[in-house]
Amino acid sequence: MNQDDLLEKRYILLTPGPLTTTRGVKAAMLGDWCTWDDDYHRIVQAIRQKLVDLATTTEGFSSVLMQGSGTFTVESVLGTAVPADGKLLVLSNGAYGQRMAQIAVRLRIPVEVHDSGEFARPGLTLLRDTLQDDETITHVAVVHCETTTGMLNPVEQIGQIVKHFGRVYVVDAMSSFGGIPMDMNALAADFLISSSNKCIQGVPGFGFVIARREELEKIKGRARSLSLDLYDQWETMEKQSGRWRFTSPTHVVRAFAEALRELDEEGGIEARYARYRANQDLLATGMEELGFRCLLPRECQSPIITAFFTPRHPLYDFKSFYNELKGRGFVIYPGKVTSTDSFRIGSIGNVFPGDIERLLQAVRESMTWEEQSVQEVFK
Ligand SMILES: *Cc1c(COP(=O)(O)O)cnc(C)c1O
Repeated sequence: MNQDDLLEKRYILLTPGPLTTTRGVKAAMLGDWCTWDDDYHRIVQAIRQKLVDLATTTEGFSSVLMQGSGTFTVESVLGTAVPADGKLLVLSNGAYGQRMAQIAVRLRIPVEVHDSGEFARPGLTLLRDTLQDDETITHVAVVHCETTTGMLNPVEQIGQIVKHFGRVYVVDAMSSFGGIPMDMNALAADFLISSSNKCIQGVPGFGFVIARREELEKIKGRARSLSLDLYDQWETMEKQSGRWRFTSPTHVVRAFAEALRELDEEGGIEARYARYRANQDLLATGMEELGFRCLLPRECQSPIITAFFTPRHPLYDFKSFYNELKGRGFVIYPGKVTSTDSFRIGSIGNVFPGDIERLLQAVRESMTWEEQSVQEVFK
């Protein structure tokens, strides 16, 4: 296969990871790197420092990279941070919150779940009362942007309550870090999790954690897994200047370094956020004009991904709609909400308002159920 065929865009991914990456990010993977070599370790160290700089302006934070998809990193944080006599409270309003609870159950970590339902934000009064009454809860975890619906959770307000009661705070910022400005110190977060293939716009292959050093220092020997031992991974990276314990996704790491460089070139997180916002505004407005309805009210909606109700038309079928769009160069995402039928369109990745305009045109052309009904009327 020749290189141009490989690099050619078959379609734009409007999925929240993997997402559409630049040619530069893909090209960065053409070289081979040795996972045990100093040149490579220098790249790893630069990435670790950059992630901390993007996450906060406050001193006292460090970062760890972990092989696998984002879920592996979530599991490494929960499985290493919560001590044997600890208890986790998960605030959930979607599939990714539920997944954290599922991880805890599988690891036999005592867990309580506050499920506010997919359309509501976590209850702050309930959180306050629960932490007041239950001193056995040591850790609280929440998803920042719940990718199930696109809901943005009030991580800062939650953080204030968690810190008031002196508990450890874990934020799954998987689909928001790099795309929405945030400061870990303002969030009062102790562990913040994301991965290579979301808003930094790299390719899939590893996740990362930015954490307070003093919290990292406490978690030695707690891990319930060898390969997902966050402490050991951190200690090795710290003491051996960027070394991973086991084979690392070298090409992915090199591509991620390029993605970070391109983030700076774009103007940093603020500029990227502005682009994602512009994409999402155009998408939501355009889709509404075409007769679709957004699942969430605007005030809860993140600029990351938008869920739309399935059209209530007997001839609508997601798979056909998906294929029509794919044929026109756009891949969208099925729904994940349990209580209602929906589909989702992401606005992140190397995607610009011009792409969204072309998408809206493609959606218009792909609404074959409308045409069919017109034909039926005139039959
Ligand atoms: C993408 C994502 C994850 C991780 O999913 P993987 O498929 O394991 O990469 C976790 N939480 C949220 C909110 C996500 O968007």
